[in-house]
Amino acid sequence: MKAVIFEQFGQTPRVQTVEDPSPAVTGVVIEVEATGLCRSDWHGWMGHDADIVLPHVPGHELAGTVQAVGKHVTQWKIGKRVTVPFVGGCGHCFECNSGNHQVCENQFQPGFTAWGSFAEYVAVDFADTNLVALPDSLDFATAASLGCRFVTSFRAIVDQAKVKPGEWVAVHGCGGVGLSAIMIATAMGANVVAIDLTEEKLAFARELGAVATVNGRETQDVIGAVREVTKGGAHVSIDALGHPSTCFNSIANLRRRGRHVQVGLMLGDHAHPPIPMDKVIAHELEIYGSHGMQAFRYKALMDMLETGKLQPQKLIGKEITLDDAPAALMAMDRFEGIGINVITQF
Ligand SMILES: [Zn+2]
Ligand SMILES: [Zn+2]
Repeated sequence: MKAVIFEQFGQTPRVQTVEDPSPAVTGVVIEVEATGLCRSDWHGWMGHDADIVLPHVPGHELAGTVQAVGKHVTQWKIGKRVTVPFVGGCGHCFECNSGNHQVCENQFQPGFTAWGSFAEYVAVDFADTNLVALPDSLDFATAASLGCRFVTSFRAIVDQAKVKPGEWVAVHGCGGVGLSAIMIATAMGANVVAIDLTEEKLAFARELGAVATVNGRETQDVIGAVREVTKGGAHVSIDALGHPSTCFNSIANLRRRGRHVQVGLMLGDHAHPPIPMDKVIAHELEIYGSHGMQAFRYKALMDMLETGKLQPQKLIGKEITLDDAPAALMAMDRFEGIGINVITQF
């Protein structure tokens, strides 16, 4: 098969022909029909993820067709259209048994713990626990765009912050994660204030439902601006970028008893950011993480797609080819353009 491979961290990945994968006894091989590009792939390529063993094939936001099935898989057959969450649970550890596959102790992450989906085929383990069937109405590119940013935002807004209608939700950073969070929080009946450095992204945020925006480049005091818009502070605030300053602002702009959810990754030099812990105790703030979403929770998400309440296809930027992927991957830290780039030609 053709695959995008890097031999060293930070060195130009290349499209090469490698051996086709075969399924683990509890896994499947999926013929990849679409796979999204994500800043996590860039982090992986830079060497920020300890799980990656070289040489490596990135890619974790995928959708496709089951092409081979391991002998202990009972729920899936060749030809099924499927996607997977980017964190797959093993299905039998303590966390999986408690329904929390997204923090599984033996988690399988395509593109991190194993070769990923920037390839014609990808092997995915623990298939019975993690595969999600696609409704016929859902195209592969949209399905691929769900796997990481959209489901992580869904879990952040719906399952972690438990956003209620009428609450103010601040979303810091309007990349793929932030735009997903804006769309989902709006669908839940919240009022969203979006924060970003570029007017173009803020305009798109308003199109997706944000009722107010703050331009962090033009505003000296982002925290004060959010507190003013929300009349005293946001009930819920999301750091959708993953940067020490957005993380700090997201916690500091909460009202009393507010909830912060960290969705943007904090890696490398940013792993341990300073936060206003004085406010956390004095105002009884709550701090959450969001790390993917269990496959069984896709049901709620799929229902909101089918009824048109959520329209993740609006977040798709460019469709590109596998040959375009190395250059696009290396450019992922520059935050250019709007929406998610998806590889749809292999
Ligand atoms: Zn597990
Ligand atoms: Zn991702």
